[in-house]
Amino acid sequence: FLSVGQSVTNLSVLIPNLIDSSISFRRVKEILEQQPDVPDAENPVPLSSSFTSIQMDRVTFGYNDEANQLKEVSMRITEGMYVAFVGPSGSGKSTALQLLSRFYDPNQGAISINDCDLRQASEASLRKLSTLVTQDTFLFNASIRDNLLINNEAATEAEMIEAAKQARIHDTIVNWSDGYDTQIHHEGGSLSGGERQRLSIARALLRKPKLLLLDEVTSALDPATEADINELIAQSRKDKTIISVTHRLASVVHADVIYVFKDGRIIESGTHQELLDQKGEYANLWEKQIGFHLSHDGLHATVDVN
Ligand code: ADP
Ligand code: MG
Repeated sequence: FLSVGQSVTNLSVLIPNLIDSSISFRRVKEILEQQPDVPDAENPVPLSSSFTSIQMDRVTFGYNDEANQLKEVSMRITEGMYVAFVGPSGSGKSTALQLLSRFYDPNQGAISINDCDLRQASEASLRKLSTLVTQDTFLFNASIRDNLLINNEAATEAEMIEAAKQARIHDTIVNWSDGYDTQIHHEGGSLSGGERQRLSIARALLRKPKLLLLDEVTSALDPATEADINELIAQSRKDKTIISVTHRLASVVHADVIYVFKDGRIIESGTHQELLDQKGEYANLWEKQIGFHLSHDGLHATVDVN
């Protein structure tokens, strides 16, 4: 019942209904793995298992005929980079991640990963290489362990704990009555937003993706935990390429490249220092952040780019 072209984010709407109708764990898992998107080409090419590059060439895309949400977007990202997408709400950052995950194809231009046009790439190889973590985490009514191991059955107990530690959720879990066997009820509704986000990060890390796409995954975290997770992201640059969409400029200072989105276009790109020197949009946003800091006595490094 999932039609081709439907975005995977719709699953978060779907899953609670499935659970209400007491569908089995196996069935939920089958549906999650279905990952609806555009179909494979006739003879799809498997992407090589290590990540080498992303190339976006003048990508234009609209969800419908009314408007384009991405306009001539170009970028090149290579192995081991930590990349940030920033810009106002509605500027196309999430859309860019959706296209990189091939939930949609560009209307014009092309996206290549490892020098293979995504239209030719096999879906299975893309899912193995790359993981997208969004804000709408779906947790289902099962144990924490099952929630973490979904799509990760081969992972060992030690790997699961390691991922949970990296995502700063292990200590929380072991404090719950049944630890990793604690049952989630009401699709995680009794957990905090930050706990749900950290569980979804742990679940994604457990897949060991070479390309990790994070869409505002630290938005519900307190500044200290966010800083911790950003530290983890910085450390994992050794074996991962990361693109992180964030509203909080404090976390992009160390990015190798920052792309600034506005109205579906990339209007500036560079390192934090390069962008400050340009004295453009990013520099403006940064100055607002400094103002925010001063007016709030430096308590929070949380800044909304909007
Ligand atoms: P950002 O992540 O930068 O906040 P998005 O990529 O989510 O921006 O959205 C860019 C534009 O695309 C917005 O105007 C948004 O309303 C629109 N949009 C996002 N998703 C859809 C969709 N599924 N169908 C139609 N329009 C969409
Ligand atoms: Mg978004």
